[in-house]
Amino acid sequence: MKFNIITLGCKVNAYESEYIKETLIKNNYILSTTEPDIIIINTCSVTNTAAQKSLKIVRHTIRENPNSVLVVCGCSVQNEPEKYQDLGVNILLGNRKKSNIVEILDNYFKTHQNYSYLTNNRTLDFEDMSLTKFTTHTRAFIKIQDGCDNFCSYCIIPYVRGSIRSKNFSNVMSEAQELVKNGHKEIVLTGIHTGSYNSDGHNLSSLILELAKIENLARIRISSIEITELNSDFMEVLKTCPKVCSHLHIPLQSGSEAILKRMNRKYDKAYFLAKIKEIRAIRPNIAITTDIIVGHPYETEEDFKECLAFAQEINFAKIHVFPYSMRTGTAAAKMPQVAPEIKKRRAHELISLSNELEQNYNAQFLGQKVEVLTESNEKNYTVGHTSNYLKVYLPGDYLLNTFYQVKITKITNNELIGEVIACQETEISL
Ligand code: SF4
Repeated sequence: MKFNIITLGCKVNAYESEYIKETLIKNNYILSTTEPDIIIINTCSVTNTAAQKSLKIVRHTIRENPNSVLVVCGCSVQNEPEKYQDLGVNILLGNRKKSNIVEILDNYFKTHQNYSYLTNNRTLDFEDMSLTKFTTHTRAFIKIQDGCDNFCSYCIIPYVRGSIRSKNFSNVMSEAQELVKNGHKEIVLTGIHTGSYNSDGHNLSSLILELAKIENLARIRISSIEITELNSDFMEVLKTCPKVCSHLHIPLQSGSEAILKRMNRKYDKAYFLAKIKEIRAIRPNIAITTDIIVGHPYETEEDFKECLAFAQEINFAKIHVFPYSMRTGTAAAKMPQVAPEIKKRRAHELISLSNELEQNYNAQFLGQKVEVLTESNEKNYTVGHTSNYLKVYLPGDYLLNTFYQVKITKITNNELIGEVIACQETEISL
């Protein structure tokens, strides 16, 4: 039987979709976009817009594929199941039981009864999924954690992904060993709150130190970490473990003291700044990127100016800018909203600052030697990333999933062009 899978949203969803894909293929289903017998849609509800997009794709898929069995799962279903219940979806799953997909499909084909599993319970066990290979990326992702207990004003995640829980330590280790055995050289640790990892006496730092012992695993990347989770253990890891990538994505969300409070974030600007200084004292060239929401309810022009100034002071390598988007069911949805045109203008201003900061960050690597792990071919280039997540274009056709020593020769519009000096793995100069 043929199946196709459509994924919306974040890296956690991407990981779970990859797991569903691998599990179905192992059970003799065939991945195909042409006339699939089964279509799986893994939805997102991070904003009202994301939820509307998920619903639109489901409606469109039903119209275009009347003969396919439709499975819809993920955050949007979990949050608003009533919107999906009368559309004619065959299997409706929310954020639970994605790992039981084979059994659920077998049962469906035996009984031809529509099935749904929806529960609002926030205290859940970690739903374990293990991948042996990541087919869509050179980097392999491991979801080590799920859920959040922070309840930031604008965010729906604590309601749709439940409370904080972690993947069992020995399961992370065996998944990593298997992924490395199958050729992955870089592992990205992902989750909703990766820094809250806690299993069998291991926190994120001790987990990283154990993973670093895996031979042939060259890089360990952390997809995102909260500033409040950068404790002394983690600083020690940054100091002593060169396998940890020199890139930290630390969501600031706002650079205004008043808005941070409104957002129910658990730190102030002084705390954030002090931690960044600590990190840079250990790794001066580390890339620190962030997420900032502009136009959160109550954000005044002064608040926004304060945010711009703080982002500049921190000197991020890049800012992912999000105009605030209302999410029904969150605290911020009940607050007075900022006009759309103001949000748009502030987003533009912050994006310009981000471009400027990115340019400054990139410029320091012109003429420098960096190490690139190649990932794909784009037109006449081989493309890869450095440990500090610089995307580097190498003119020509090089081996993929291979480390090269590269000299950065040119930077235009934040694109870095490099010249290969040596292939690291063979130690042979090219
Ligand atoms: S920390 Fe805040 S923004 Fe992040 S997932 Fe939890 S509630 Fe959402």
